[in-house]
Amino acid sequence: MSIDVKDQPTGAENVVWDLTDLYAGVDDPAIEADINQTNERAEAFAAHYYGKLTALDDEELYEAIQELESISETAYKLGNFAQLQWTLDTGNAQYGGLMQRIREWSSQLEQKLLFFELEWTNAPEDFVQRMMEHPTIQHYTHWLETTRRYQPHRLSEPEEKILAEKSVTGRGAWNRFFSEFMGSQRYEFEGEELTQGDILAKLYVEDREVRKRAQQTFTDNLAKNSQTLTYIYNTLAAEKASDDRLRKFPTWISSRNLDNEVSDEVVDALVEAVTSRYDIVARYYTIKRDLLGVDELFDYDRYAPLPAAEGFYHFDKAKEMVLNSYTKFHPRMGEIAALFFNGWIDAPTRPGKRSGAFSASVVPSVHPYIMLNYTANARDVMTMAHELGHGIHQYLSREQGLFQSDTPLTTAEMASTFGEMLVFSDFMEQETDPKIQLAMLAHKIEDTFATVFRQISMNRFEHGMHTARREEGELSAERFAEIWMESQRAMFQGSVTMTDNYARWWSYIPHFLQVPGYVYAYSFGELLVLALFARYRQEGADFAPRYFEVLRAGGSDWPEKILAPMGVDLTDPTFWQEGLGEIEALIAQLETLVEQTK
Ligand SMILES: [Zn+2]
Repeated sequence: MSIDVKDQPTGAENVVWDLTDLYAGVDDPAIEADINQTNERAEAFAAHYYGKLTALDDEELYEAIQELESISETAYKLGNFAQLQWTLDTGNAQYGGLMQRIREWSSQLEQKLLFFELEWTNAPEDFVQRMMEHPTIQHYTHWLETTRRYQPHRLSEPEEKILAEKSVTGRGAWNRFFSEFMGSQRYEFEGEELTQGDILAKLYVEDREVRKRAQQTFTDNLAKNSQTLTYIYNTLAAEKASDDRLRKFPTWISSRNLDNEVSDEVVDALVEAVTSRYDIVARYYTIKRDLLGVDELFDYDRYAPLPAAEGFYHFDKAKEMVLNSYTKFHPRMGEIAALFFNGWIDAPTRPGKRSGAFSASVVPSVHPYIMLNYTANARDVMTMAHELGHGIHQYLSREQGLFQSDTPLTTAEMASTFGEMLVFSDFMEQETDPKIQLAMLAHKIEDTFATVFRQISMNRFEHGMHTARREEGELSAERFAEIWMESQRAMFQGSVTMTDNYARWWSYIPHFLQVPGYVYAYSFGELLVLALFARYRQEGADFAPRYFEVLRAGGSDWPEKILAPMGVDLTDPTFWQEGLGEIEALIAQLETLVEQTK
């Protein structure tokens, strides 16, 4: 019998953050003073610059951006303080009230200042060129570039206004209808009325019969609503096609790539690399089939639970493990990570506190804060490593200033996932119980699969669906199903048997409709880190200083350029192959552990 770890102190009880680096509390008079002063500065900014951007010289432009950044920084500081305070005690009306007030105030402030970015976006090309060549402006080059990146795809002012107004009853209305329609569905299951979340959660239970029945119940509902769902998909795909045509985007994915600050070429290289290694997926599911002790793996078996080995890790032990791994990578990395343990982390679980974990960058003039819900299991150690990775990245990129410290989605998870890999590989070396090793490794692999392979197979579905909608016109439910099954069959390569029911499972995924093209960014981030990690293992100590530079650069340039000094060429499929090779190595390690624990 093992002792009940639930009653043991986790060591996180007194690890709380100190927000006085921002404000002393809700009643701090500095809050009121900052709000008033920011209002005055925003008024003065508008009075001074409104309608005059193209009359500025380089030094005046630089000063204007600095002032705008500084005004925004105070607004961010207020917003972060209100948000962080509320996070720990979401039922506190005073905290909630302050947060709402700051939100409404910030949105008004934004309206007042928005003209500046719009004037820059619409400024004539020759003025822009002249300004960008000035060394004075150098620091803000990337911000200025990204602010203008949508300009070639913008329509005239009156056209934009009409599109914006009509989108409320167009795309917006269809998406809302989809969400409300799916949200209102109830699923009859063993005498109970379940929500979508509850019925899909049954796919994660141990009892295979329950999983199978849940899959059937969910499928029956999708079949019943097939006409409605197919109509919504067709309408939104057509709407996107006309939007892309009007805005002159060459492909269905181009507008998303522009958001993510990557070229179509880079995304093509990523997709090509991942789809060429679907054999890794098949190899893993063959192991999973054996671990579950079944002859054939069906689609409803994919999320069946693997052997769990939770372990117990006192907070101090976890802190030591994480700091050791970071220090081993580079002493400076360990020093920065250690800073967080003096009042920048809030770790215990408590009533009213938000769930999950995050690292908030807050503002460059202060420092990041990390929230955890530490319960002392092995995955909590990984979460600590993950959030500290974000924290270190945010801490180092502060020198870029507010406007250029944040990275786009594609590289936002770089430092966190890399930090997790550092701690994970040490964890696997130090853990002596092969059962715990096996459980940890299998979870790691399933997480990696969910981000790398599943997202790309979904990207292939999106590609097929948007291409077919543009070439063939309105698509039938059967045609959608065909494209879906083709994308899924390609990935599983026979290792998972897909039932006929599964052919309907494209129709409930909200991502496809709400943020078309979004899914590949997950794969991008994860694979980038795995490839960097492979380089780190080859290069050893030479790797760390260059990696530091990448983190320090924050969002001050295009990701391709920031990563170039690491010898990384994102347009080259062989670079992505290095990351895929790491996944393959994890599978090989799992196969060995399976042999050892037989
Ligand atoms: Zn993260």
